[in-house]
Amino acid sequence: MYDVLIIGGGVVGCAVARKLSQYAGNIALLEAAEDIADGASKANSGIVHAGYDALPGTKKAYYNVKGARMYGKLARELGVPYAQNGALVIGFSEDDRKILEKLYAQGRENGVEGLRLIGREEILRLESETNPEVLCALDVPGSAVVSPYEMTLALAYHAAENGAEFFLDCPVGRLWAEKGKWHAETPRGVFEARAVVNCAGAGSAVLHNMISDEKVELIPRRGEYYLLDATVKCPFTRTMFQCPGKMGKGVLVTPTAHGNTLMGPSAEDIPDALDTATTRKGLDFVMEKCRLTWPKMSTRAVITTFAGVRAHLTSGDFVIGPVHSAPDGAYEAVGIESPGLTAAPAIGEELGEMIAEDLKMPNRRIFKAPVKLLKPFAAMTEEERAAACRENPEYGRIVCRCEVVTEAEIRDAVRRPVGARSIDGVKRRTRAGMGRCQGGFCSPRVMEILCEETGLSPLEITKCGGESRLLAGTLTDIAKEARDHE
Ligand SMILES: Cc1cc2nc3c(=O)[nH]c(=O)nc-3n(C[C@H](O)[C@H](O)[C@H](O)COP(=O)(O)OP(=O)(O)OC[C@H]3O[C@@H](n4cnc5c(N)ncnc54)[C@H](O)[C@@H]3O)c2cc1C
Repeated sequence: MYDVLIIGGGVVGCAVARKLSQYAGNIALLEAAEDIADGASKANSGIVHAGYDALPGTKKAYYNVKGARMYGKLARELGVPYAQNGALVIGFSEDDRKILEKLYAQGRENGVEGLRLIGREEILRLESETNPEVLCALDVPGSAVVSPYEMTLALAYHAAENGAEFFLDCPVGRLWAEKGKWHAETPRGVFEARAVVNCAGAGSAVLHNMISDEKVELIPRRGEYYLLDATVKCPFTRTMFQCPGKMGKGVLVTPTAHGNTLMGPSAEDIPDALDTATTRKGLDFVMEKCRLTWPKMSTRAVITTFAGVRAHLTSGDFVIGPVHSAPDGAYEAVGIESPGLTAAPAIGEELGEMIAEDLKMPNRRIFKAPVKLLKPFAAMTEEERAAACRENPEYGRIVCRCEVVTEAEIRDAVRRPVGARSIDGVKRRTRAGMGRCQGGFCSPRVMEILCEETGLSPLEITKCGGESRLLAGTLTDIAKEARDHE
């Protein structure tokens, strides 16, 4: 019996878990995937939006602006890569200028500071690679970039250090209230709790409709991206947006928190929320749009493409708080599309506080500070590297050459609470496999380390859970199968 069950281990669920772990109580987070940060929280633009885009008076506007204000301090506390690099939303026509004027007014109403409308000369002085045909821009100094999956992981680590339990590969198939308790049915058994929080991203509407008489409709909206090699310097220091439209915030070209260049996203409504395939059509759209911002763009430095799925509600706004028309003790954060990454710390703070108050959970006597994450070997000075190798010789063995990730860091990523269990889990925690070769060289060694640390056989190691096993079988088994076939 738990006090609170959180369903969904994205940035929102982990922010709620971290806040609730501040109170005395038993908290469990149930995640369908083999790792946390496996949904939209791993595949987005990684922008901490300042808050000019959301309609004033909406929950999106409120949580966006509040979340953005919390980010810098939170990222520093948790040791997450974050930089306030600013943004320009650029326009090429008089129609675009009208949109930018509207965004400016909206931003001011939402309480965003420092916004300015600027002209071509200043744009080209600030960002010289911009298309010289640009006419005007909204300057947004408060915009920032963050590593979204590292933020999610760091929130989870901090919650786990303070007692929250994480159950992975644990999809909730049925949710119901009976005799004053909530029940969540999973392949690992039925979990019981005094309260549940639905933070299931693109899966949140199904759970909501299971327990509430007020139904919601969610449309999965896919966005596709190109990622460029970090060895090619991003031509812009700011995030360069084009004007937003009905489907999203506009295609961007931006440096990431790790110094790559990111281009995208497209916006396409799709039937299957788990369909994160990239498509020729989506990527061509991104390419064409980005060329308008950055005419000298080349695809030579593209190292990968990927897609994320937005949880778009037809009603348009976030749904956050107690679930209407459902038994007591049910809470939710449903339809958390963009700016959900930005809003997550504020959603976690408010939803966590609300639940703790309703359940009368007292503050924990000791709320442990986040354990300091290891400094990446790639970011160490020569002296620091030498000292690290003296203390732990595993620092002397480079596993990922592209991103300079050592064996010591990979072992640590597996050993820590809510540790990695797959190749992608290691990648998100250490950057091994994030570079130019995309894991071509390091995956076999990462697999061996995963086996040594977890006791799993190489045949059980997956790229990202489910059926994504790397090995089909042993040579002996395959030879035997072939012989049996003859
Ligand atoms: C293309 C794109 C670009 C974006 N860009 C930005 C941006 O730049 N800035 C910004 O602020 N926001 C951005 N967003 C929005 C942001 O990524 C999301 O709002 C945020 O990640 C949502 O977090 P979440 O925790 O609600 O959902 P998710 O990260 O999707 O997590 C939900 C989790 O619930 C799990 N789950 C689902 N069903 C069940 C079940 N039945 N049982 C157990 N677990 C379940 C899923 O496996 C998943 O891990 C973008 C989104 C997309 C797709």
